[in-house]
Order: sequence, then C-alpha cells, then structure tokens
Amino acid sequence: MTTKRLTCILCPNGCEVEVSYSGEPTPESISVDGNTCPRGVDYAIEELTAPKRTLTTSVLVYGGTQPQASVKTACPIPRESLFDAREALRRIAVDAPVAIGDVVASDIAGTGVDVIVTRPVPCSP
Ligand code: SF4
Repeated sequence: MTTKRLTCILCPNGCEVEVSYSGEPTPESISVDGNTCPRGVDYAIEELTAPKRTLTTSVLVYGGTQPQASVKTACPIPRESLFDAREALRRIAVDAPVAIGDVVASDIAGTGVDVIVTRPVPCSP
C-alpha cells in the first residue's frame, strides 16, 4: 500500500489530503482522506493519474509601453505539455495594444486550450 500527502489547491482552504492506493494509482484504487469537500477527491485522483497545471509566462509585445505581456493558459493543461507550451510561447510576439483576455495562442501544444493575456499593455506614446 502506498500512502502520500497532498495539498488540495482548488480553493484557499488548502486541505491536506492523504491518498492511499495499491500498485499503479487508478481512479478506482485510490482512497482519499482529509478533504473537506468532494472536490478534494477529484483533485487527488487527477493529481495521481493525470496531473495538470496552469502555465503562466509572458510573450513579446511590439510597440507597447512594456516589452512583454503576462499570459496564462485559460485552464490547466497536462503537466507533460508544459515544456512544449512554454517553448511555443517563446516564439510568439503580438502587437500592442493587448487587453486582458485577448487570446495570443489557440490550442497551445495541441492541448485544446487557449492562452490569454492577464495584464494589459497599451501602445507606446
Ligand atoms: S478539499 Fe474542498 S475545501 Fe479543501 S481545499 Fe480542496 S476544494 Fe477546498
């Protein structure tokens, strides 16, 4: 039997959950304790079987008051796609102005997820 401790990151409560499973973790074999709500079970199962993360980074901006704009994936993507997504975003440049919510890349790294601006960059005067 394998036992691990995880911190659920789905809300500010940050519950410490204990997960137990035998052999390879599967949704059916994982038992979860310590969660305050059912979402903690879903989080623990996903974390052990198909972990995802939200990617936050920046892209180049031409003609703006700042040379870069902060961006993030619109939702978490598979952890194994983070490197490819980050590399793809390093090759992207956009023209100012950019606004919060603007899509700078669609289907990043084949994940089906868009990348959106999180901080606006107006045009330089
Ligand atoms: S288990 Fe529920 S209450 Fe606890 S951190 Fe996760 S989402 Fe929040």
